[in-house]
Amino acid sequence: MADVTVEQLAKTVGATVERLLMQMQDAGLAHTKANQTVSSEDKQTLLAYFQNGGHKTATDPAPAAPKLSLKRKSTAVKSGSQNKRTVNIAVRKKRVYQDTSSVEDSSTAQTNLNESTAETASANQNRESLAQEEAKRQQAQERFKQQQQEIEALKTAKEEKAKADARKTANADDQTNTQETKESSITALDPEALRQKAAARRKEKQDAEKRELVIKQKAKEAKENAKREAEEKSKAEAINKKNEEANKESHLKRLKMKPVDNSEDEFKNNKKSAKPRTQRGKSRGHNIHVQLTEDGEYEETMRFGSARKKSKREIKQQAFEMPTERIIHTVEISGSIAVTQLASQMNVKVSELVKNLMNMGVMVTANQLLDEDTATLVVEEMGHNVKIISETVLEDELKHQVDDIASQGLLEPRSPVVTVMGHVDHGKTSLLDYIRSAKVAPGEAGGITQHIGAYHVETDHGMITFLDTPGHAAFTAMRARGANSTDVVILVVAADDGVMPQTEEAIQHAKAADVPLVVAVNKCDKEGADPERVKTELAGKEVIPEEWGGNVQFINVSAHTGEGIDNLLDAVLLQAELLELKAAKNIPAKGNVVESRLDKGRGAIATVLIRNGTLKQGDILLAGQSFGRIRAMYDENRKAIKEAGPSMPVEILGLNDAPEAGDEFLVVPSEKKAREIAALRDARSREERLARQQSAKLENMFNAMESSHQNVLNVIIKTDVRGSLEAIQSSLLEIGNDEVSVNIVTGGVGGITETDVNLAVTSQAVIFGFNVRADGAAKRIIEKEGIDLRYYSVIYDVIDDVKQALTGMLSPEVREEIVGVAEVRDVFNSPKFGLIAGSMVIEGTISRNKPIRVLRDNVVIYEGELESLRRFKDDVNDVRNGMECGIGVKNYQDVKAGDKIEVFDNKLIDRTL
Ligand code: GDP
Ligand code: MG
Repeated sequence: MADVTVEQLAKTVGATVERLLMQMQDAGLAHTKANQTVSSEDKQTLLAYFQNGGHKTATDPAPAAPKLSLKRKSTAVKSGSQNKRTVNIAVRKKRVYQDTSSVEDSSTAQTNLNESTAETASANQNRESLAQEEAKRQQAQERFKQQQQEIEALKTAKEEKAKADARKTANADDQTNTQETKESSITALDPEALRQKAAARRKEKQDAEKRELVIKQKAKEAKENAKREAEEKSKAEAINKKNEEANKESHLKRLKMKPVDNSEDEFKNNKKSAKPRTQRGKSRGHNIHVQLTEDGEYEETMRFGSARKKSKREIKQQAFEMPTERIIHTVEISGSIAVTQLASQMNVKVSELVKNLMNMGVMVTANQLLDEDTATLVVEEMGHNVKIISETVLEDELKHQVDDIASQGLLEPRSPVVTVMGHVDHGKTSLLDYIRSAKVAPGEAGGITQHIGAYHVETDHGMITFLDTPGHAAFTAMRARGANSTDVVILVVAADDGVMPQTEEAIQHAKAADVPLVVAVNKCDKEGADPERVKTELAGKEVIPEEWGGNVQFINVSAHTGEGIDNLLDAVLLQAELLELKAAKNIPAKGNVVESRLDKGRGAIATVLIRNGTLKQGDILLAGQSFGRIRAMYDENRKAIKEAGPSMPVEILGLNDAPEAGDEFLVVPSEKKAREIAALRDARSREERLARQQSAKLENMFNAMESSHQNVLNVIIKTDVRGSLEAIQSSLLEIGNDEVSVNIVTGGVGGITETDVNLAVTSQAVIFGFNVRADGAAKRIIEKEGIDLRYYSVIYDVIDDVKQALTGMLSPEVREEIVGVAEVRDVFNSPKFGLIAGSMVIEGTISRNKPIRVLRDNVVIYEGELESLRRFKDDVNDVRNGMECGIGVKNYQDVKAGDKIEVFDNKLIDRTL
């Protein structure tokens, strides 16, 4: 059609001339007057402008097409809510159908233009167009069916494309068809027609989308069919040939080699010839002949004249060369896999793999690990096959093997393993020491007994094993690794002090682990001792004495005089009897690591507790990520022993590395297997730690809860005083709703210890320190395990953060920063400045002008500011880590040696923007 003027065009589209001119200018056209002509090229530009939603585009609208098609693909996938694998295929198919889709897209674009220009068209035309729309829809449906049938017949993506093209042409020929060339649609800017077309196009577009989905599906099926067919075909071929040849082929595949044609011919020739070549008499000289033996291996016959030498080995060079054809590899993936490893499995260059990943929008370096999903996607994208192998397949295998053997064990009663817990200074160490010195026979080396973290005692009624690693640490460390080595907990409570915070903590731990308690009411020799008060207090904590109708034995003891100790041991044995503890002796050992360390001269030394079976010198051990053959074995008196049975603690030498406390150990049949699994675990734990460091953060909690469908936020709260603890606990418990809730794993008064952190590891909890701080040991684990620890000094802030975390709104910003910590070494009086704390800066920098807190036993006891900061005789503003200084605290006179002075900074970042 001929060019039109701006005025005419405006009339046709039903817009005012001014408006159209404005739009044209926006689109980058030079038209300013109503009588200027609009060429078909100008229309294209205008079309592209509208197509782009009113944004100016490059003068050529063509590049917009692939962009649009991409967008639509993703929509289709989203609406189908398909998994990643389908996304991948969708992307691949898009490439194949690009022609079709770009046409469709341009028609969509026209629809947009048409819609936008036809908007002002009179409404009474709508009815008419509705009827027509219905007709179009029917046609479209027919077409859709037809296409489906077509698709059925399709086998490969290429064919599909050809047909799509053919269909496109056919449709264009069809009068009722709405698909027209850009040119004609532009020229037909008649509002009525446009309205109809718009409706039809919309329909068409929807259908096309549906169609595309089906096509994708079919193409995928077709591809799979083709693959299957190809496989079947190759199988059939293989059957046609001789069995040996099939064997040979698979063998070659394994070698990733392809037979050279002539060798195959020779092979066939051999078969054809009446006499195998090896029997032909006239072969001359040096001749190598390949033949398959019955067991599928190659037999190479070398002949030198009449002399004959046979050597059985795999042929690598003589008969085969690298293939010219592409080989489809099967890539084995278990969990995550390094990019380099993946590349080598596919036999491609790392750079090529990285390029492919980049095309998928994944930016990686060669050494990075890919997760299973991404690896699967890229392998399929590159045309290879994926075989997912369970990460734990090796371990599972071993476990089966060990369990099989263990099931043959003969169960016999075993001695109980006991842990002593209780509040600090209530006499745990004294009690263990007393039992040890009174009951454990002194070692041979001059009676010097060495601490190995556990020992056992023989009584008239049986043996008891004590774990005596400090405090609750061992208990929780083991629990943190899922091991519950303890059968009975002895809870030590000083009769003159009663129930204290750590007493309660111990009760919580024992309950959480479902381990029975025996209460040792200690220090009964003391004057102020009041065992009855301990009973009352403990009963308040649901630890009910037997004589009051409960099930807990209370024994009055004194670690000093030894009074009641025998009764205590008897009580433990009685409790153990109720548990009916059993283990087998006649099987390989299994148990847990109690302690371990690296010794310069002797290597890794580990104390292990045997839970089941008998451990022998020379056994191969797998303990966590360590392994090795037991070189030597000692009992708690450093006496060399050859073997040890259930419930015995022993020290072993020979592991390649120090395992962690709580790690499970196993005797395994082969060192190779042990090494493999240890390496696997090592890699896995590194990955897990990384992942955990992310997910354990409070701000990520919401995502973690969403993805794991776990809707409880576990928290551990430590506070300076009981009042704050109760206030925080009750407020937090109120926060939850139907979907999410807060679970307080444990709450206590005092600094944050190793025990708290281990409990946080076990229960995947965050730790809140309210006016308390973590001690050194706790800090180390926090760092290693990536636990989220937050310090607060305002109750409202705790509540606020938890609320935000539960709704996924928490930002990772720090509210308060500890700038430096100084430890008070000595306190002296200066006539001029009053009380001065002679201190050593142990962390960061101490600044003169920032707020401070005084900490005693990691609990905040004072908050205020500095009066003075001096180095020698000079006033200074800052003192750095490792330096000594004199600190005067304003309005506070109660600083003592051993206290810590912490300087902090308020970072007031607006959180709720
Ligand atoms: P732990 O912190 O629980 O290990 O307690 P310790 O064993 O270190 O004991 C703390 C203090 O209490 C030490 O000074 C012990 O001498 C003292 N103590 C422990 N047991 C008794 C006891 O039975 N009687 C008396 N009078 N003092 C004890
Ligand atoms: Mg102690």
